[in-house]
Amino acid sequence: MADRVPLLAANWKMHKTIEETERFLADFLPRVPDAGPEVVICPPFLSLRTAVEHCAQSRTRVAAQNMHEEPEGAFTGEVSPPMLVELGVDGVILGHSERRQYFGETDEALARKLPAALGAGLEPILCVGENESQRDSDETEGVLTRQIEADLAHVPDDRLADVVIAYEPIWAIGTGRTATPDQAQEAIATIRGLIENRSADAAGAIRILYGGSVKPDNAAELIGRADVDGALVGGASLDPGDFAAIVQAAEPSR
Ligand code: PEP
Repeated sequence: MADRVPLLAANWKMHKTIEETERFLADFLPRVPDAGPEVVICPPFLSLRTAVEHCAQSRTRVAAQNMHEEPEGAFTGEVSPPMLVELGVDGVILGHSERRQYFGETDEALARKLPAALGAGLEPILCVGENESQRDSDETEGVLTRQIEADLAHVPDDRLADVVIAYEPIWAIGTGRTATPDQAQEAIATIRGLIENRSADAAGAIRILYGGSVKPDNAAELIGRADVDGALVGGASLDPGDFAAIVQAAEPSR
């Protein structure tokens, strides 16, 4: 087993005010074990400062849910990498399927955002995954290949391991339908193989998460598979007890 440290990331999407963020963290942070998996909370932009302040004395880190690739400019409504870094944010989710589906996020834009995040010192969590009809017509491997090759096109081989990838089958996001551990393992092994085409070292080191209706009762089995290095969790991460249980479920598997 490669010694990749498991990572559990909470994607809160457009949930929780600043006050709700404070309440969540007051409950959640004491439940995070002193050692073991890495934990990242991804709140909405307005709660980032509060989350950074509350997590400062803990092992839990904070990431944003999106960013623009330019450091500044006439891009109304956008937030830049240096703005996130100034707040003490450690990472950023990029290419979530909701951003691709509802906000026109393209692979071309992601090819610019990935090196911009790395260049600013942010750890990108790149989301990829197929929709239901693509899975039903056996296009999963092709979709993953296209997304990984395009989105990481401008990341140099020696920085690939600094990216986290989240395999998120769209049919499993927020639907209560979870990929089976075998499906998650197979897709993530495919992604690792795509990274290996560029760098064997990076393939061994890069962390690849599963996301899609992860809950306390299915987390251990999913994260226990050889290539699954943790989870990106949406709905279940909104409850401090449930997300803490998912973090704890990842611990004994390594
Ligand atoms: C997500 O939004 O990244 C996600 C995996 O959501 P859920 O856990 O609710 O399916």
